[in-house]
Amino acid sequence: MKKTIYKPNNYSLNKAIEVLNQSGVIGFPTETVYGLGGNAYSDNAINKIYDIKNRPKINPLIIHVSSFKLAETLGEFTDTAKKIALQFWPGPLTILLNSKANNGISEIATAGLNSIAIRIPSNKIANLLLEKFGKPIAAPSANLSGTVSSTSASHIYDDFGNQIDMIIDDGPCLHGIESTIIDARTHKLKILREGSITKENIFRKTKLIINETSEKKIIVPGQLEKHYAPKASLRINVKEPDKDEFYITIGKSDNFTNSINLSPNADLSEFANKIYSALRELDDRKIKKIAIAPIPNSGIGEAINDRLKRASK
Ligand code: AMP
Ligand code: MG
Repeated sequence: MKKTIYKPNNYSLNKAIEVLNQSGVIGFPTETVYGLGGNAYSDNAINKIYDIKNRPKINPLIIHVSSFKLAETLGEFTDTAKKIALQFWPGPLTILLNSKANNGISEIATAGLNSIAIRIPSNKIANLLLEKFGKPIAAPSANLSGTVSSTSASHIYDDFGNQIDMIIDDGPCLHGIESTIIDARTHKLKILREGSITKENIFRKTKLIINETSEKKIIVPGQLEKHYAPKASLRINVKEPDKDEFYITIGKSDNFTNSINLSPNADLSEFANKIYSALRELDDRKIKKIAIAPIPNSGIGEAINDRLKRASK
């Protein structure tokens, strides 16, 4: 019995607050992927998150808040960072800042770094939860470390069973791909992880230019080469799948026997929204080899290709 899965309502939100106040861990929806959340001020809660996910302690957690006011108590916003936050929050953009001294955030959550990654999510339930809780919630994606993120409550249950105190089920995530991470510690902005908010979106709304990051030096493990991986082996940019491969396609494609088309209209957002679910389903079906058609590298396609590349390592 999936006793830990609750529909979002007053009862479950209050219960979630209780769990968070007792340094417990909850699965909750955001517009990107589901999060595994704990009180960001509590070392106990944060330790539990790392343990349950089997996440290396060098990989810091994104800190979620309900308001810019609370965010300002945690990180040093430059004028540029503030401009970006006011334009894109709430939304799927995480902003990396220098930490404010004595901000109360568990040092385990930021992996002892003097930087902090902050986001105000736009999912209504996430917002309600954050507002009611009134404190920051540290939340990585709700999946076992290194594997495919959860885009539904049942994915979380598949990974953790009753190990976590409760899961709030708000249906499938809107975007289905992790947030964009922008390094705004200085005025020289850098994208550390692509997501549905692109450099072009940022330029259009703020006129801020983000330089191409040729040196993608790993400063954070969200940039690790192998990540987001299913159990099956994954081959990308495949035009002709091998006989023993299950083929994932987009747009107009021939009828291959073992295949699924995630967006016949070649809608990249739709593809992003469905890809993790598809990978998890193929793992459930014990498919051993997956091939993926070339994905156009524009807009959110860059984020999709980034994840698929690392899933294929
Ligand atoms: P996720 O695994 O989706 O929770 O994403 C977390 C990622 O956010 C990390 O792997 C880092 O890339 C980034 N991140 C979070 N907190 C920090 C921090 N304090 N300093 C630098 N990067 C961070
Ligand atoms: Mg993750």
